[in-house]
Amino acid sequence: MTLILLGPPGAGKGTQSRRLSENLKIPQISTGDLLRAAREKRTPLGFQAESYMIAGKLVPDDLVIEMIRERLKEADCRGGYILDGFPRTVAQAQALDQTLAAGGAGSKIDRVVNIEVDREEVVKRLSGRRQCRKCGENFHLSFHPPRVEEVCDLCGGELFQRDDDLEGVIRRRLEVYENQTSPLIDYYGNKGILANVPGEGSIEEIFRKILKVVS
Ligand code: AMP
Repeated sequence: MTLILLGPPGAGKGTQSRRLSENLKIPQISTGDLLRAAREKRTPLGFQAESYMIAGKLVPDDLVIEMIRERLKEADCRGGYILDGFPRTVAQAQALDQTLAAGGAGSKIDRVVNIEVDREEVVKRLSGRRQCRKCGENFHLSFHPPRVEEVCDLCGGELFQRDDDLEGVIRRRLEVYENQTSPLIDYYGNKGILANVPGEGSIEEIFRKILKVVS
């Protein structure tokens, strides 16, 4: 099973794709997590990506496409995977199609789940978001607080606020989403593999709705 999770920043793609990964026993691949890891490790890619990420802009397509192509070659992707945060432009979607057609990643896309959330809700969700430095799990100061302040419930890792979860940057990321990523809704709609899921409700409720459209 090969899935894509689509939606604006703060829709819950990371949270839901982690749960799906556990449930379906296929890896979750988040380009945002891969890029943050590259920044932490201070690799050349990390340095190249940093200024775009801090400004809430997209990292150039060629860098992200190369990174994802390498990741999809790994053995754990053979039985399928969940893409979280990729593709984010039509050029990225076309590059993914080419990779799949060439047999590079061994499968086709089965379903694209589009999580729908409105703008103001996104701002509220992202400004209170905290992420675990170790396992990547997301929390929210009001809607999904950790049991112990600043500590991850799952792995005990330290929680931090992402440098692009500040209000000015959030608005910029939303604009980028509208202009560059939302055309993918039609792109995959036209291929007949898109499923829209309303992103309101508890994490569990949304997860159940997603499971219904992917099984
Ligand atoms: P995310 O964790 O998915 O919200 O991504 C955080 C940031 O990483 C984005 O705002 C972009 O700067 C960068 N990024 C992640 N995925 C992509 C992508 N597919 N294409 C371009 N930039 C990306």
